Amino acid sequence: MTTRPFLLSSSIQYMKGVGPRRAERFERLDVRTGRDLLYHLPHRYEDATTVDPIASLQPGDAATVIGRVVSKGVLRTRTRLRVFHAVLRDDTGLIECAWPGRPWLDRTIKKGDLLLVSGPVRFYHGRQLQPREHTVLDGSGEGIEGGRVFPVYPATEGLTHRQVRAIIDANLESLLSELEGRERLPAAWLAELHLPPLEEALLSLHRPSALAEVEPARRRLAFEELFFLQLLHARARWQLKTQSPGIALDAPPSLTDPFIASLPFELTDAQKRAWSEIQADMSTPAPMNRLLQGDVGSGKTVVAAAALLKAAEAGYQGALMAPTELLAEQHFRSLSELLAPVEVQPVLLTGSITGRQRAVVLDALSNGTRRIAVGTHALIQDAVRFESLGLAVIDEQHRFGVEQRRLLRQAGTAPDALVMTATPIPRSLALALYGDLDISVIDEMPPGRRPVVTGVRGPDSREAAFEFLREQMAEGRQGYVVYPLIEESEVLEARAATAMHEQLAERYAEFEVGLVHGRLSAAEKDDVMRRFLAGEVHLLVATTVIEVGIDVPNATVMLIEDAERFGLAQLHQLRGRVGRGAEQSYCVAFHSGKEPSERLSAFAGTTDGFALAEEDLRLRGPGDLFGREQHGIPMLRFADLERDRALLEDARGRARSIVEHDPELEQMDHRPLRRELVEHYGDREELYRVG
Ligand code: ADP
Ligand code: MG
Repeated sequence: MTTRPFLLSSSIQYMKGVGPRRAERFERLDVRTGRDLLYHLPHRYEDATTVDPIASLQPGDAATVIGRVVSKGVLRTRTRLRVFHAVLRDDTGLIECAWPGRPWLDRTIKKGDLLLVSGPVRFYHGRQLQPREHTVLDGSGEGIEGGRVFPVYPATEGLTHRQVRAIIDANLESLLSELEGRERLPAAWLAELHLPPLEEALLSLHRPSALAEVEPARRRLAFEELFFLQLLHARARWQLKTQSPGIALDAPPSLTDPFIASLPFELTDAQKRAWSEIQADMSTPAPMNRLLQGDVGSGKTVVAAAALLKAAEAGYQGALMAPTELLAEQHFRSLSELLAPVEVQPVLLTGSITGRQRAVVLDALSNGTRRIAVGTHALIQDAVRFESLGLAVIDEQHRFGVEQRRLLRQAGTAPDALVMTATPIPRSLALALYGDLDISVIDEMPPGRRPVVTGVRGPDSREAAFEFLREQMAEGRQGYVVYPLIEESEVLEARAATAMHEQLAERYAEFEVGLVHGRLSAAEKDDVMRRFLAGEVHLLVATTVIEVGIDVPNATVMLIEDAERFGLAQLHQLRGRVGRGAEQSYCVAFHSGKEPSERLSAFAGTTDGFALAEEDLRLRGPGDLFGREQHGIPMLRFADLERDRALLEDARGRARSIVEHDPELEQMDHRPLRRELVEHYGDREELYRVG
């Protein structure tokens, strides 16, 4: 019989040395239960290997030492300043430390305490260290063993890291003993991956006997975290594939073959690969749940068009959903053109299609006379009934909520879903975010595309760049000047953009200069964008509201102000607004400092969106990749997508293979996984159910 873990699930308040008052303080550290306490890990460690031997200190050094207080006291200088003194000893020697003006330390630092101090060493009647920081590692009498590593814990007001450590120390054994028999990862995996068992890992993290123990222990927790995330993804994927009746969209290629033959170009190898992956998925009855990733202009739309036709030739309907009306209209125009040779005419449904026109569209969709629909979220409203929706293509999915995806799924009997994104996502992040999706990547540009010439310029070159923009406009081209969002205030942002607009309108008096920013209504924004699209507006002054999607082939210049304030992914998106036509295009990113940042240099160095996304992940971490409105990036406590990439791939492989063979985790050796999943990820499983 296993006893229920009592302490692990008990409130922190009942842990030794805690009580109600400290419990409140622990709450600020997100520690509420015994389990939380056990997982409240040191954020750094100090030990004899990370500090300087006292004998080695020289005046002029900045030093960190650990030593035991052998004597102490308060002295008064001739200027009557009271100075606390303590002499520290380690295995190599003695040093005097002095804290001018801090006599009260005499009450908190005791003879025999083990201190960690850091600060400059100077010459004053011999060597003297003036600590900038000090930490009492151990009270007196606890014995100094050489090489002992001291964990330093995240602390909070009213709860010092020493108190945290003492409390963890007092409870560690009993908490760990409750983990006995609760190892969830199969022993064979731990052996293969060289990872310690759970209990041992936690013990090593709290009380390492050497620093070298810490990293394998962290990797163990990281692997477990990544594995359960992937297990959730794999189960969501499995549920979707098996529990909803899907459609096999498998018919002779009466439309798709002629369509591909009608294109004025040959598909790139990457497009062919993506297309054959999509075909294979669509042909089987299990619902497709696939992400199609490709840089701006890599030719995703052509592949999506083929997929929509595949649904149509099998006797079903296909729908393409875009995040804004403008983008929906743009997709509608390009699909109408692309599909003309095979005589398929798509219909458009957006919020501004109303009245009789709307009724006609709704009819055509419900009686099945139209096979391909393009639209906004208007496509998933209650009134819309498809006769037989077989495929949903969703453009720029990270702008769509899970809810919308779910609704679109309900429009038919689990239609195949193809999610398109032009925001390159590093594979590791894609796996963490969209592990439940299969992924196709178009990582190759159509031949003959001229890369956008990119420059990063300082303040001295602004004039030249703005004059260059004038020349381009004089030749009939169009351009953009983009300002970063002023995050604190839309009002400020609008004001700044408005001021710039006025200035530029004056400067380019012979041209039409338009303005879009976040304070404009959708209708106002739309109006300006339409006039830009029609070529009536030559220069668009904008905040990042233009970031996604708009396609104006005649635009050849993109000037980006305060470029340091953009993420790499954003900069790359902005650059993607130009270079869409036959003319050579240019992008200039202005920086305000003397030297461009590492990020901007990387930006100028390549036009490969995937390379930039990897770089962005490295420089800024996953949370920043899409800006702050991006939701759904899982909080990883122990894993690091950059460092633990190999672990992530491994975790994904294991999760998928388990779910394939034993989806309900019923096998004897999978039961501990199941128990952990139910106990600690139950709430998240609901979240991941929807693809
Ligand atoms: P994306 O949707 O990925 O931004 P599009 O599908 O809109 O890219 O393609 C961008 C442009 O490239 C379009 O004008 C399209 O006709 C063209 N294109 C697509 N695939 C190819 C190809 N294999 N060879 C040449 N041009 C292509
Ligand atoms: Mg496109």
